Amino acid sequence: MTRPVPFLDLKAQQTRIAADLRPRLEAVLAHCQFVLGPEVGELEARLAAFCGAAHCVTVSSGTDALQIALMAEGIGRGDAVFLPAFTYTATAEVPLLLGATPVFVDVDASTFQIDPAQLAARVAEVRRVGRLRPRAVIGVDLFGQPADWLAIRAVAYAEGLFTLDDCAQSFGASQHGVRLGRAADATATSFFPSKPLGAYGDGGALFTESAERAALYRSLRTHGEGTTRYEVLRTGMNGRLDTLQAAVLLSKLTVFEEELAARARISDIYDARLANAVTVPTRVADSVSAWAIYAVLLPDAAARERLQAGLRAAGVPTAIYYPRPLHLQPAYRDAHDGSALPVSEDISTRILALPIHPDLTDADVDRICTAVCANI
Ligand SMILES: *Cc1c(COP(=O)(O)O)cnc(C)c1O
Repeated sequence: MTRPVPFLDLKAQQTRIAADLRPRLEAVLAHCQFVLGPEVGELEARLAAFCGAAHCVTVSSGTDALQIALMAEGIGRGDAVFLPAFTYTATAEVPLLLGATPVFVDVDASTFQIDPAQLAARVAEVRRVGRLRPRAVIGVDLFGQPADWLAIRAVAYAEGLFTLDDCAQSFGASQHGVRLGRAADATATSFFPSKPLGAYGDGGALFTESAERAALYRSLRTHGEGTTRYEVLRTGMNGRLDTLQAAVLLSKLTVFEEELAARARISDIYDARLANAVTVPTRVADSVSAWAIYAVLLPDAAARERLQAGLRAAGVPTAIYYPRPLHLQPAYRDAHDGSALPVSEDISTRILALPIHPDLTDADVDRICTAVCANI
């Protein structure tokens, strides 16, 4: 059989950037400032410029970025943090680690993004019950597309909630002509290797327009330190990005725009060739996706299983994001108030992600489309 299509091809990408990457890594090996070396500051300036944010603070992972953002607001016991039920586990894990309570919100049936009307309803419900204090909303830009930030901000403003954008999957996307990074009070992203802008290990970043918040994030990522090294102002964590990872990311940034364009081109081909076979992704209005994930919907779980098996036999890998909404996960069930979240529950049984990355060849894309149409 011909070689399987790679779901992600970091080797091919590494070959493309090798001439730029190697000297950057050699420079770090030469200066040996492995923590907060000069590449970290250079990366922060470039990332802020890339998305137009006033401040960028790099951190050790996307999860730690979320945690530092909530720690800076003093969110903890008795606080309700609203977030979509259909997302990666990290979004819900962080409020729980801080002693706060995640309140799961259902998502929009066509875009899979947090549903602003449901958000307003869940906030009203929490206020009515009176046990928790509504404090924050984490909007997730799912699969590369932006959440409906205008509507989320309107709810948050009316309710006095801190807005945190979990942009782990969607750095590089834009909405209303502006790159994500300024849509919320703070924006967290991830450089996990499989994200659109990935390092060679864990990494993340926070963006904000507030100089006070940025200063707090810098303090919190270094054990809550003050202006001098051994002055400890607050409980923080060890949450810095490695210099070597910053060097990798500086190199990846040189090709990032081209890679986003390549992903977008593949999404257009998929849309054109698959729309009659499966439900292709609904595009969020007035936005450009980073296309971290291209997820289609099948009529039911049996159809998904058949398609997945057929594609596997044809050498086309697929993935299911996410097979179970978070409010039904064993770890989070006890934190959930028991509300049904029917859209999240439904799409988790029918969703399927196809390979999408900048090193897919036209032949790969053709092979994937042919295999999908042959297994419907
Ligand atoms: C990947 C991801 C995270 C966590 O990022 P890490 O860098 O792996 O810690 C958080 N939220 C979402 C939606 C993600 O996809």
